[in-house]
Amino acid sequence: MEQQPAPRQKILLVDDTPANLVILGDALQDEYDLFVATTGVQALQMVDANPPDLILLDIMMPVMDGYEVCRQLKENPATSGIPIIFITAMDAEEDEARGLEAGAVDYITKPFHLPIVKARVRTHSELKRKTDILQNLSSRDGLTGIFNRRRFDEVLDLEWRRAARKRQPLSLILLDIDEFKGYNDNYGHLAGDQCLQQVATILGSSLRRAGDFLARYGGEEFVIILPDTACEQAKHIAERMRQAVAEQRMDHAFSRVAPYLTISVGVVSTEPGQTINHQAMLQLADQAMYQAKNSGRNCAVSRVLPHNST
Ligand code: GH3
Ligand code: MG
Ligand code: MG
Repeated sequence: MEQQPAPRQKILLVDDTPANLVILGDALQDEYDLFVATTGVQALQMVDANPPDLILLDIMMPVMDGYEVCRQLKENPATSGIPIIFITAMDAEEDEARGLEAGAVDYITKPFHLPIVKARVRTHSELKRKTDILQNLSSRDGLTGIFNRRRFDEVLDLEWRRAARKRQPLSLILLDIDEFKGYNDNYGHLAGDQCLQQVATILGSSLRRAGDFLARYGGEEFVIILPDTACEQAKHIAERMRQAVAEQRMDHAFSRVAPYLTISVGVVSTEPGQTINHQAMLQLADQAMYQAKNSGRNCAVSRVLPHNST
């Protein structure tokens, strides 16, 4: 198979002196996709909208200095993994120590020597590329290739923070294949594995929005996070998933539910502005799913997280 060239990495240059941006831009534009910001506030907005792989950050800037930009980025789990290199006229050892303590990976003093800037940028961008690869591997389920429980926990944490910040609703779907023990016992473990892969694909194709997140929760259970999605819409999506699996008519002659493979689905939604205890949210999704099991399986049951559960 032909090896795809690695995509170009994105670097955000932050400096209130346009001349510095021009010099750095000239030196780096052949190797990287560059973005520039001239204030700390603008830098934070740009990182939020389009996260870069590396940030070159000036310290002395009016209104919000580089230390503060760094602090805010490191504090936010969504941006804390982006390496920051300070590039600054503040050349005292205490300044450098403070920069590194703030979480920067490197510290370059002005006037800078371009070959050194380029070499250090290359080192840190390569390291970021490798970290991304490892992180991606450790986030995936080996059998189905979708995200795993580990990543699910992280994303749920990120999404409920975002939902609280933006005062948006959040929904969670937990589903489980019906009578899967019977499937395994009769068709064999290998067929069971293939079935899980097929279900993962069906579930993935019934999600439409880029922010929707699907993971294998464990065994034959899957979980979906639906950001900015309220109860009615989440119920609709859950029902669509249930139908999508049933409509495949994957043979299951040993199921007491139907002669084909089915799933039982639990849905839980929060209301906008609700402070969310995501453990409570998961528990309720689990209860809803078990109610679906008790109601004959091959159905979806939904709940709204009560306000007093936090
Ligand atoms: P219910 O309708 O109540 O959900 O019944 P069930 O049989 O689906 O539930 P149970 O929890 O009794 O069985 C789950 C089965 O899923 C048992 C286990 O062998 C199978 N399983 C879990 N993980 C895997 C896997 O990775 N591969 C395969 N092939 N089977 C798995
Ligand atoms: Mg099951
Ligand atoms: Mg199960």
